[in-house]
Amino acid sequence: MPARRPFVFGNWKMNGLGSDALALAAALKAEGRPAEGTLAVFPPFTQIAVVAQHLEGSGILVGAQDCHEAAKGAYTGSISAGMVADAGATAVLLGHSERRHGLGETDSQVRAKAEAALAAGLDTLVICIGETEAEYLDKATLQVLDRQIEGSIPAGIDVERLVVAYEPVWAIGTGRTPTIEEIGQVHAHLRQKLVAHLDGDGSTVPIQYGGSVKGSNAGSILAVPDVDGALVGGASLDPAEFTKIFTAGGGRFAASGS
Ligand code: PEP
Repeated sequence: MPARRPFVFGNWKMNGLGSDALALAAALKAEGRPAEGTLAVFPPFTQIAVVAQHLEGSGILVGAQDCHEAAKGAYTGSISAGMVADAGATAVLLGHSERRHGLGETDSQVRAKAEAALAAGLDTLVICIGETEAEYLDKATLQVLDRQIEGSIPAGIDVERLVVAYEPVWAIGTGRTPTIEEIGQVHAHLRQKLVAHLDGDGSTVPIQYGGSVKGSNAGSILAVPDVDGALVGGASLDPAEFTKIFTAGGGRFAASGS
């Protein structure tokens, strides 16, 4: 992963059909090739191939929203990391809160998925961490994040392939965000923790903030030291808003024709 800010990634979740995905991809492609920063989209599994084909050569990365920890086998309904790579994805989101808290995914499962994604040759692993509202109110945020980093991120991971997304569970899809000061404190802590966990190599790992990022708050959030980008849910379904977030963080598109 090239270490250039901002890393703005859009998680489309379980929305839209193939035609919607193509329209979204086309609208993003029309903005041009990202010349500064990294843009990525994470469509539903069934839309990866069509979106990856459409965005080929655009400089916009395409990823999957999850993968199974096994390479193959009797896991009805599951999709392996090799399968998402075969469909054209080069990235994968792991440990999103809707999987950790909605589906009971544990730290060790997230780590096993990360190992599977590395073995399958995916270039970019976005490992999501974040505290619940009860943990936030209990002032347990840093403790929870430390535990998730230790449990979910393989210590020997190639740091060039890692992105960490800090997403307070209570800020996802709610329109609420921590204060800028809180985001700054958490990200500074995460930087130190990643350096310690990854034997000093964590200093260049991009750390995204996620949770109700939109065009109107992106500028102030992305200006926080150690906030290297944003993982965006709802607003990534609106290409103009998603583009606004990218440019608010200093992302630039190449001049058309270049
Ligand atoms: C997300 O689901 O990762 C997310 C950040 O969602 P939203 O931007 O809608 O809060």
